[in-house]
Amino acid sequence: MQSGTAGGRDRPAGWKVEAVGTDSSDQAELRELVRSILADHAPDERVARLDESETFDEEFYGHLGAAGLIGLGADPATGEDADPRHEIVVLEELGAGHTSMAVCLVVQYMALRLLSHYGDDEQRKRVLVPLAEGSGRCAFALSEEDGGTDIARAMRTKAVQDGSGWVLSGRKTWISGAATSGYAIVLARTSEDAGSAIDGITMFLVPLDAAGVSVRVLDTAGIHGLDTCEVTFDDVRLDGSTVLGRVGAGFRQVIGTLNGERLNAAAVALGIARGALRSAVEYASQRQAFGRSIGGFQALQHALVDGAVRVESARGLLIRAADAAGAGEAQSDTFSAMAKIAAADAATDITDAGMRVMGGAGYSREYPMQRYFRDARLYTFAPLTNEMLRNFVGERWLGLPRSY
Ligand SMILES: Cc1cc2nc3c(=O)[nH]c(=O)nc-3n(C[C@H](O)[C@H](O)[C@H](O)COP(=O)(O)OP(=O)(O)OC[C@H]3O[C@@H](n4cnc5c(N)ncnc54)[C@H](O)[C@@H]3O)c2cc1C
Repeated sequence: MQSGTAGGRDRPAGWKVEAVGTDSSDQAELRELVRSILADHAPDERVARLDESETFDEEFYGHLGAAGLIGLGADPATGEDADPRHEIVVLEELGAGHTSMAVCLVVQYMALRLLSHYGDDEQRKRVLVPLAEGSGRCAFALSEEDGGTDIARAMRTKAVQDGSGWVLSGRKTWISGAATSGYAIVLARTSEDAGSAIDGITMFLVPLDAAGVSVRVLDTAGIHGLDTCEVTFDDVRLDGSTVLGRVGAGFRQVIGTLNGERLNAAAVALGIARGALRSAVEYASQRQAFGRSIGGFQALQHALVDGAVRVESARGLLIRAADAAGAGEAQSDTFSAMAKIAAADAATDITDAGMRVMGGAGYSREYPMQRYFRDARLYTFAPLTNEMLRNFVGERWLGLPRSY
């Protein structure tokens, strides 16, 4: 491995991309806090090793919890949401430095938000408070084999009332962190004749060690530092206290929190884009060909400049979307859809350019570029595909006929 080129932590001379002038003083403080935790506890070699061994970084998660960065997702005492600008600062930094951990936090922030909005006092005390302190985790289980985009129509997982409790059966797939979490928020159909596909679905707070629950880790192309799982429910008996929110209204309640998840996914994608760009620029500054650094060749320089433009554009849109969400603007979900498209496209384009700029080294596992390249793919389709988000923007922003 060439010294100084592995992780992109040593800034190339003159590098300006991380000079985030739009942060308020508390956002800047938060950014510095995450950067210092990354510098102290997640050197590139460690992140690479955990990715290779497909191991979740429990120790690093503990450091985030101790610093209060998990509880940022929701205030258990007041039930108030975090400032979206705070969440995106944390997730951009983690996306660049410890991507699998950033994906884990996107799920935790979503779970915390659902628990703080819809949990009763007992659920909040038993699950939300420890989660917010960084003790234990909660997965979010919506997708199934027959459909992610059209999940409400495709949902086969069901829960049938049995006295005061429920019997849950079915299978969820692609569930992040289920093998390393204590709970999962599971969406299951509880009524077949609710009128529309999105009604008649209920959220359950399921302990993942309950009898009848089995978890199988799936083999995926990226995000190797966080398990992706299939979770099967074989007539799992749940008591009434596991219902989260209102019976039959679970899907609508989840839709209400998806805006935040979209913003957070965009922030991670932005972090990946920035981290990959830095690695590529650093490499291009050092690698020599024809007696000069390859960064001096215009063809490569322009590709890297396009990357910088994509990063700054995506960040600008993300901040616009986060501010719209914070202010409760009517169009905030359209802005967050645009921000997610922009950041995910930036991450895929920049990691592709990075692979080309680095030649054979981009393909080597000794450098982080191939990891960024693999990890970036996730947010082209999760939590919602960019195609589906384009459908929303076409309809809601351009006034075009509904295309789905
Ligand atoms: C690593 C990983 C982690 C994940 N984590 C979670 C998790 O924690 N919890 C969870 O619930 N899910 C999770 N998912 C699932 C993820 O949210 C889905 O993969 C995603 O919603 C897309 O669904 P799908 O894969 O079934 O694709 P499909 O819905 O089958 O879509 C396939 C293609 O068809 C296109 N398409 C479908 N409908 C339309 C339309 N109307 N117009 C245009 N194009 C359309 C899509 O855009 C896509 O290109 C994860 C997935 C992965 C791989």
